Amino acid sequence: MTTSHTPSADPAVPTGALSEELFQRARRVIPSGVNSPVRAFGSVGGTPPFIESAAGALLRDVDGREYVDLVGSWGPMILGHANPRVVEAVREAAGRGLSFGAPQPGEVSLAEEVVSRIGPVSSLRLVNSGTEATMSALRVARAATGRDVVVKFAGCYHGHVDALLAEAGSGVATFAMPGSAGVTTATARDTVVLPYNDRDAVRALFAERGHEIAAIITEAAPANMGVVPPSRTEHGDGLGFNAFLASVAHGAGALLITDEVLTGFRASREGYYGIDGGGWSPDLMTFGKVIGGGLPVGAFGGRTDLMDLLAPAGPVYQAGTLSGNPLATAAGLATFEGLNDAAYSAIDRTAVALRGLVADALTTAGVPHVIQTAGTLFSVFFREEPVHTYAEAKEQDTAAFGRFFHAMLDAGVYLPPSSFEAWFVSTAHDADVLDRIAEALPGAARAAVAG
Ligand code: PLP
Repeated sequence: MTTSHTPSADPAVPTGALSEELFQRARRVIPSGVNSPVRAFGSVGGTPPFIESAAGALLRDVDGREYVDLVGSWGPMILGHANPRVVEAVREAAGRGLSFGAPQPGEVSLAEEVVSRIGPVSSLRLVNSGTEATMSALRVARAATGRDVVVKFAGCYHGHVDALLAEAGSGVATFAMPGSAGVTTATARDTVVLPYNDRDAVRALFAERGHEIAAIITEAAPANMGVVPPSRTEHGDGLGFNAFLASVAHGAGALLITDEVLTGFRASREGYYGIDGGGWSPDLMTFGKVIGGGLPVGAFGGRTDLMDLLAPAGPVYQAGTLSGNPLATAAGLATFEGLNDAAYSAIDRTAVALRGLVADALTTAGVPHVIQTAGTLFSVFFREEPVHTYAEAKEQDTAAFGRFFHAMLDAGVYLPPSSFEAWFVSTAHDADVLDRIAEALPGAARAAVAG
């Protein structure tokens, strides 16, 4: 990896002088110095390293310190950073022009790839972020049903869409915010928040207000309050939670939107639907992260009759100057080319090995913890008992996590700076990388207890 700064790597210094200087400059001109809240390290404290370059499983900061990366840009970097195939595809596309504002072949191929992998999606529109995807899917659902109310689950994060910020996961959870200021009362009134995995709450709401509900939106497997998989079956009905939601929504003439922005093409080759699907279908699905290979892309898709409601054929307006951007589709397509069965097996093996290392270190040090999984995704809760809801996710020892996080960072391992986030591995996380993590873990686990 090349760097324009002279490396001054000193493992005794948690964060280098250049990062500190940049953070100070940033705070003068950027709110809290960051363009997305969780990057500010607000819940773990300290100065975030400013990253200068990344390759494979490694990040290098402006002070020349190297880290094993377990964030992966929050999901997209599933083939590792600066993957040569992806970089070359983007370079080649850039040489042909950065944006056309007109149809281009890459959009068609990317939509075909998603449609070929995901049974319930027969029509797809590309946007520029996961937020745009969920916002647009809601609009289609409201238009299709002629109803306003949307049901979401506490702890699920669907981007910073006004209607979906109430009791959201990810940064909203990290900063313990009930929602967001600036969301109108009318918008909040049209959103009903229920506890995740709580079938009685869903049944009760639909019994009373089913005729008002346009859609249920849910993460296919929540991973923004930590990983909290949908309950597999309920006594008697044999349905997993997602299948249950589909049946309740459809029984009331409402739609089910499953959000696979995070899990899509990550939890498995077909996303979480590949693990959980069959016998039921969402009406609309949302994607992001992996499908852009690190460039800004989101997508929403589903049944053709619903997607045909979009302009210009239909009455639902939705548009984007840069949607279907040729660089972004090139990065997404090159990423998909690398995502064959062997890639998913490798990611799975790495995730299993890493979970084992973490469990061993935390157990040896006597740190209460539970590791939960959704396909190749996992997260570590700093509490003993399994987590089924957001309320339970919030009952963990975040201070212990903060100590663990900083000890890992000091030892050169970059974890998500919040215990409400999943850990992301890639095909570039090889045995050497796992060794480096294994070396860091025992000390960090001891630091977690030394509160
Ligand atoms: N939906 C889910 C499940 C997500 O995890 C995220 C982002 O983390 C989003 C939507 C929003 O995506 P973006 O940050 O690209 O707007």
